[in-house]
Amino acid sequence: MANRSIQITDTLYDYMIANSVREPQILAELRAETAKLPMAMMQIGPEQGQFMALLVRLIGARNIVEVGTFTGYSSLAMALASKDAKITCCDISEEFTAIARRYWAKAGVAERIDLKLGPAADTLQGLIDRGAKGKVDFAFIDADKTNYERYYELVLELLRPGGLVAIDNVLWGGEVANPAISDKDTVAIRTLNRRVFADERVDLSLVPIGDGLTLARKRP
Ligand code: CA
Repeated sequence: MANRSIQITDTLYDYMIANSVREPQILAELRAETAKLPMAMMQIGPEQGQFMALLVRLIGARNIVEVGTFTGYSSLAMALASKDAKITCCDISEEFTAIARRYWAKAGVAERIDLKLGPAADTLQGLIDRGAKGKVDFAFIDADKTNYERYYELVLELLRPGGLVAIDNVLWGGEVANPAISDKDTVAIRTLNRRVFADERVDLSLVPIGDGLTLARKRP
């Protein structure tokens, strides 16, 4: 026992899943289909999907922005969490989001999800320009790491006071803590982590779920 986050062995992970994850059938189907793709590791785990769904319910999120949609697991988990939630999804891949669209339709949530294909920074700036500043309740950032800082800044503008942003992969397979590693992605995540840590505009917690998820709440 220790007063630090526990090491999650495979056995413990299986226990955690078996004893806490209530994954809707449609999400299980989507996860299975995505698992066949070579980039399957880009999908969040079911425990993280459930955690994000809980956050959506906790803060009563109705207006959600997602940066990086891939095959749609996280957006579907969030859409299923609240009948009132509308989600703007940003992605550049027609191929992967075609899978997302199929599952959104099957789950009956497609009309509440607005997929914007194109560079996410443009989409976010477009939302700001059209008056969405301060109107977003919840945002999820899980896209190209070298643009994380930019996405964070744009999302922070969009968030309402008290709104929450969740940023994925902040532990980056442990590489953020290895000074011998200095590729662009790792450096970008390290930079973002320092920036959020020092940012007086937010309250934060780095949650060691999945590959590390930073929650930052915009201070009123
Ligand atoms: Ca991710």
